[in-house]
Amino acid sequence: MEKLILGQTGLEVSRSGFGALPIQRVSMDAAIILLRKAYENGINFFDTARAYSDSEEKIGNALYSVRKEIVIATKTHAKDARTFWDHLETSLNNLKTDYIDIYQFHNPDNLPVKGDELYEAMLEAKRKGYIRHIGITSHSLKFAREAVQSGLYETIQYPFNHLSSNVEINLVLLCKDKNIGFIAMKALSGGLVANAEIAFSFIRNYPNVVPIWGIQLETELNQFIDLEKNPTPMDEEMKSLIEKDKKELSGNFCRGCGYCLPCPADIPIPMATRMKFLLKRAPYKSYLTDEWKEKMARIENCIECGHCSDNCPYHLNTPALLREMLQEYRAFLIDHRI
Ligand code: SF4
Ligand code: SF4
Repeated sequence: MEKLILGQTGLEVSRSGFGALPIQRVSMDAAIILLRKAYENGINFFDTARAYSDSEEKIGNALYSVRKEIVIATKTHAKDARTFWDHLETSLNNLKTDYIDIYQFHNPDNLPVKGDELYEAMLEAKRKGYIRHIGITSHSLKFAREAVQSGLYETIQYPFNHLSSNVEINLVLLCKDKNIGFIAMKALSGGLVANAEIAFSFIRNYPNVVPIWGIQLETELNQFIDLEKNPTPMDEEMKSLIEKDKKELSGNFCRGCGYCLPCPADIPIPMATRMKFLLKRAPYKSYLTDEWKEKMARIENCIECGHCSDNCPYHLNTPALLREMLQEYRAFLIDHRI
């Protein structure tokens, strides 16, 4: 598999990385098979997080025997130094390793800088050899720019895909200028982009960007392995499909990141807020079951606590969006006589 150098880290990573958030949803055995297959087919970059329940453990179990051949990035959402050290110790144990290649602050509220207890803890972990490089993840453009300009981070992880605007492309170019590794999350726009070929071809135009494809199923993995073997260059048809996607999904749409959870009314927000698009763009029958009807009906139980909108990095008015989606969903059921 083709590789790229991840900015000033000097790490050589496969041009397709493995985003290990979705493997939380599969069994340990299924995850091990998937991760081994990814490795055997040339993927050497695995991104996970302390916050992704047993994802780190699954990577540790699947890949400890090839530790030296792979690059592991994980994240801490610690807000103080004590929790930072707890997270680091747990991650090292789970991953069955004595070092982490890239340790990232996971979407922090404020930028950790020199002198802060969190950044100083990061530096100490690096001095002691527990981590090799310091990274940060964010969903906010302003924040990501500040992180790049600070000179304190070797990698930035930020949402980037073919729906991204010129200002986001400029962030990628800025990282290239400053030799900062750019790790693209949400490369399939949180599951809304069904056409992996377009997403793949778009990112391929940026040789300093490594996407971490969120992979849960073997079919998804196979798709990226095949695309890596035969990368399709961007053509006119793809360009016009991108424009169509941009029109349909621009602005007020949920990226499925899940930062709004938990919801006290138990509404499956990241899916429910995207229901209109899921019905239109994905095989829709699985969303018409009694189980999904009940889940969507929970929207009526929203108590307007504000937790979701307060925590949405895209500043969405989530309760309003949910109500709109419930209306659309019920209209869809009527249209399809269900
Ligand atoms: S405002 Fe409604 S949807 Fe949002 S977290 Fe609270 S109960 Fe859930
Ligand atoms: S509503 Fe916001 S926080 Fe929740 S999943 Fe969507 S984009 Fe993420």
